[in-house]
Amino acid sequence: MKQLQRLGLVLFISGFTCWIVILTLGQFRLTTAILDQVVKPEHRAVVQTRTAFMTNRLYTSNVAFIRDFNGAISGYNEEMRAKQVWDKVIYENYTFDVTKGASLGVLTSPQSRLWFWLSIGLATLGGLVYALSGLKRLPGIRNNYLYRHPATDRGWIGISVGVFLIGFYIALYFYPEYLTNWVLLVDPVSRALNAGPASRWFLYGFLYTMVILVMGVRMLVNYRHSPYQQLRTVSVMFFQISFAFLIPEIMQRLNQPYQDLKNIWPLDYTFFFDYKINEKLQAGSLGIFLLVWGIALALIAVPVMTYFFGKRWYCSWVCGCGGLAETLGDPYRHLSDKRLKAWQIERVVVHSVLVFAVVMTALVLYTYFTGQSTVLGFLDSYSVRSTYGFYIGSIFAGVVGTGFYPLMGNRVWCRFGCPLAAYLGLVQRFKSRFRITTNGGQCISCGNCSAYCEMGIDVRAYAQRGQDIVRSSCVGCGICSAVCPRGVLNLEVGPVASRRI
Ligand code: SF4
Ligand code: SF4
Repeated sequence: MKQLQRLGLVLFISGFTCWIVILTLGQFRLTTAILDQVVKPEHRAVVQTRTAFMTNRLYTSNVAFIRDFNGAISGYNEEMRAKQVWDKVIYENYTFDVTKGASLGVLTSPQSRLWFWLSIGLATLGGLVYALSGLKRLPGIRNNYLYRHPATDRGWIGISVGVFLIGFYIALYFYPEYLTNWVLLVDPVSRALNAGPASRWFLYGFLYTMVILVMGVRMLVNYRHSPYQQLRTVSVMFFQISFAFLIPEIMQRLNQPYQDLKNIWPLDYTFFFDYKINEKLQAGSLGIFLLVWGIALALIAVPVMTYFFGKRWYCSWVCGCGGLAETLGDPYRHLSDKRLKAWQIERVVVHSVLVFAVVMTALVLYTYFTGQSTVLGFLDSYSVRSTYGFYIGSIFAGVVGTGFYPLMGNRVWCRFGCPLAAYLGLVQRFKSRFRITTNGGQCISCGNCSAYCEMGIDVRAYAQRGQDIVRSSCVGCGICSAVCPRGVLNLEVGPVASRRI
């Protein structure tokens, strides 16, 4: 067992090292043809003049290339701001596209495939070997050293993983030009699927899907004794690969709007943005279908499905954020804060985000239908939506939501920030047939259930009181039930009035 585990680890670390090395590869040369291709006509002359000193010069590092390009543009912008010529300031960020266009060397040659297999291929293989080595162990959890191991108890391994994830998300959202080589690496995959070059979001979607698949295999192995966990894991893997990744890419290939079919407003906060609505309206009958599908999911499927099955139908079976949390985040689920204080903060924050999302969407729709961007004389719908996008969409959902897995548990976003989880939770709490029943007499107070509840619910306290669990935050992952040695906890549905709360 140990040998197989070690082999998996060695393969994974080798692939990961190659993956990091790739960031430093390649050369960069700016040409006027690249600027003609990337820069808008109204900015072309200025950009060409300001970057003339870079033209045809060979850079051996993307850092130096990006520094020179950004310096040239920001120098020009500062001059314009000093002169208060605001309409001449260049707000567009061309750095990523220019850096990608200027890339030369191994990652733009057929040899890039070798690097693909040496990095992503090897890391995937290593992850799978490591996960499959678990078949030689008994299924279920192992509590030994869980709270002392440097990887699972905010030790140096956990902190390093957290720092890497946070760094990755910051680069992805705010400095994608430094990830150009990774984007180039998946260019062939992108062309095969959507017939176009890869963007940073394609890279993200591809990595996201691969991680869910590999870590999903780990879940399948670890919880092979539980049919509920098997089905649930297969479900999140299926929805990620099909609804979230393959179908939207193929739709792009067919010149149809890009839409993650399982993403529901208000989690998909851009759904009602003007350009999204217009894109769908212009796409003909399929576009109209997508519009109706999205609205029906939010207004009909969410309340109806949650009434019958609880919020688990989405949070633990379909959602991409939930999918990542349940696979990549599984080793960190015990790190969720169980204190009463955390629950109090959670309720205030998550419902505030829901209110923020509803107000922002109302403003966006008001602007769409009336053409007026200001409401009540001071609320500007464009500023409100960009504030939401920055703080909630990028910082909270991405940087904090995933980057903090090894520090605060795997459901930080779902618990404190997801407006859809808040919406589903309200239905679950007040009008749902779902509950976790407890057979208190059997409980031996081992605490496994509370330790492994990713939503920070003190499940044991409910079990000891013989009370049903109908908390709005419960995502119905069923892990509390899977780790209970006494069969105390059962995920059930029944008449709303019969819940013991
Ligand atoms: S109470 Fe159980 S089913 Fe609900 S979130 Fe916690 S571990 Fe998952
Ligand atoms: S895991 Fe089961 S036995 Fe242990 S505390 Fe929870 S309900 Fe009780």
